[in-house]
Amino acid sequence: MESRTFCFSNNYLGEFRMEMKTVIITGVPGVGKTTVIGELSNLLKERGISYFIANFGDFMLKSAISEGLVTSRDQIRKLSHRLQVKLQGIAAREIANEARKQLANGGILIVDTHAIVKTSTGYWPGLPSHVVEELNPDVIAVLEASAEEIYRRQSEDRTRDRKDIQERGIEEIRELMLYARVAAISSAVVSGASVLQVLNERGKAREAAETILRVIDVI
Ligand code: ATP
Ligand code: AMP
Ligand code: MG
Repeated sequence: MESRTFCFSNNYLGEFRMEMKTVIITGVPGVGKTTVIGELSNLLKERGISYFIANFGDFMLKSAISEGLVTSRDQIRKLSHRLQVKLQGIAAREIANEARKQLANGGILIVDTHAIVKTSTGYWPGLPSHVVEELNPDVIAVLEASAEEIYRRQSEDRTRDRKDIQERGIEEIRELMLYARVAAISSAVVSGASVLQVLNERGKAREAAETILRVIDVI
């Protein structure tokens, strides 16, 4: 059997420190990804660590609005499949390019996105191989809470329209959570990332962010 030797020369370690670390945060709509990432942003700022947060949906929304396709982010997953595939590919490339610019001297890229998206053509992967190739994640986090709690968060958040995620009530959220886990693992298999389950309990978004930060430290 061929054996490999990893040689950590000083030069190599120097370059290693300059590399960015990439964490993709996933989870079903309304579980609290954007909220927890807001807390993570505060923690990174407090520690003086360079970071760039990319909300994948923001990048898709910008292209979709400029093409006159949608007026709000919750309309994106209702577009035709082929349009979503195009917008997804453009967003992944733009995020990778922007991160390389912003974190040229190293830092943390945090991507706020979905491993699975409920669309009109069925459950669709948010992180297919061409997307993870662009983003090159070290860790794919799956944010979770109880299905009942997620249902409540979705229903009480008047800033968003997530009715299509709860047409069959809590049972549908439970099903989507299962797909979300499976999709995250599938994306990890093609990218070599690890999958981290993170609980976002009620009133404990900062604790969830601290869990993610502890893992970032050991990437
Ligand atoms: P989407 O995928 O649709 O963008 P999301 O996962 O980013 O959703 P958020 O927008 O962060 O979800 O949160 C949804 C709602 O849940 C918001 O009203 C937010 O304030 C609330 N929320 C998030 N985390 C918690 C928490 N730990 N405790 C209580 N409420 C929370
Ligand atoms: P969000 O605010 O995170 O819900 O993002 C808004 C919308 O962008 C989502 O509801 C999806 O339609 C779309 N979106 C976000 N991330 C992805 C992704 N990785 N692949 C495909 N669509 C995505
Ligand atoms: Mg969000």
